Amino acid sequence: MSHHATDPYQDIRDAIRDLCASFPPEYFRKIDEERGYPEAFVNALTEAGWLAALIPQEYGGSGLGLTEASVIMEEINRNGGNSGACHGQMYNMGTLLRHGSEAQKRTYLPRIASGELRLQSMGVTEPTTGTDTTRIKTTAIRKGDRYVINGQKVWISRIQHSDLMILLARTTPLEEVKSKSLGMSIFLVDLLQAIGHGMTVQPIPNMVNHETNELFFDNLEIPAENLIGEEGMGFRYILDGLNAERALIAAECIGDGRWFIDKVTAYAKERVVFGRPIGQNQGVQFPIARAHINLEAASLMRYEACRLFDSHQPCGSQANMAKLLAADASWEAANACLQFHGGFGFATEYDVERKFRETRLYQVAPISTNLILSYVAEHILGLPRSF
Ligand SMILES: Cc1cc2nc3c(=O)[nH]c(=O)nc-3n(C[C@H](O)[C@H](O)[C@H](O)COP(=O)(O)OP(=O)(O)OC[C@H]3O[C@@H](n4cnc5c(N)ncnc54)[C@H](O)[C@@H]3O)c2cc1C
Repeated sequence: MSHHATDPYQDIRDAIRDLCASFPPEYFRKIDEERGYPEAFVNALTEAGWLAALIPQEYGGSGLGLTEASVIMEEINRNGGNSGACHGQMYNMGTLLRHGSEAQKRTYLPRIASGELRLQSMGVTEPTTGTDTTRIKTTAIRKGDRYVINGQKVWISRIQHSDLMILLARTTPLEEVKSKSLGMSIFLVDLLQAIGHGMTVQPIPNMVNHETNELFFDNLEIPAENLIGEEGMGFRYILDGLNAERALIAAECIGDGRWFIDKVTAYAKERVVFGRPIGQNQGVQFPIARAHINLEAASLMRYEACRLFDSHQPCGSQANMAKLLAADASWEAANACLQFHGGFGFATEYDVERKFRETRLYQVAPISTNLILSYVAEHILGLPRSF
């Protein structure tokens, strides 16, 4: 199915499609069954420079915009892959890029761009506070030239395939700050040094093949020079980076959605029941057509969020709305795809059930649908704050 004859990003799409052609459905199916990591696929993306899209050229990246980056993520998912295995490598470095010192940028960014170092993990969520991030209990207390970390994180992705992690911890107690969003700081944690020396990792088996972990910090010491930006400003720094993350996750959902539409359209043309292709029935056509329409609309909102981001304009509303629209549209497409595959939708070899599980995640993470609705209600529509 061709979308736009004049798509300005067709070159990127073609290149990603070519790369993905070396990783057929059997590859991802096997990795999923084994709960393995798509090492060869991630290496191929890294070597081709795609994961360094957002790193400026002066630090060894390709210096592309968020729009191009979103097309890369979209195409990976559209071609049957799962960007969730490596999307952190693309956007976690944004915090370092925007708020790190020149010395930190020179030390880390070129090595992240080359793939020598993986910055795939970001530790924010905690078991007892959930989405109420300003109440996090993990603390970082300065002692001379070090910070001592104590606390716990949950659902932290890709620790097993990362060298570095961005960590959010409270440096000033909540009771002592003027605003609850102050007093938190972000640190770069060298995982090799940390694990077994104050940090322990407990994997959380889950519904998708997405490495997630519980992390425990017991007097983990990290060098004070690993603080990123100013102490106390970490929550605002993290928020800055979330708009890019939301737009990229939206793009992944759009890619998933298009994969589902391609898959179900092909199947509905072929599968003959009652003497005709099931796709000849309007009861089958309409849910697929509706999901396609919603995906196209979500894609436009994604481009708008990226356009604003790339021209350094506020894009919080658009990035959040794009994430919600895209996650809903891809879930709608997933449901139609599974439904019209009948029993075969449940068979592993059709890949529908795998993609179905994978795209379901984006109703909950990295931000749940309800939290986006509440953001829109309060910050865009001016309704009273509910929490
Ligand atoms: C596979 C996976 C990977 C993840 N990776 C990472 C990671 O790498 N780093 C990281 O920091 N986190 C990660 N997370 C955590 C993820 O960001 C959170 O799960 C998500 O933000 C929701 O937080 P929670 O699970 O604590 O839900 P809660 O905050 O406990 O909320 C539970 C439900 O209640 C709803 N809810 C809560 N409050 C309200 C309200 N006031 N009004 C209406 N509804 C409300 C929420 O929308 C949600 O549906 C990951 C999660 C998963 C599942």
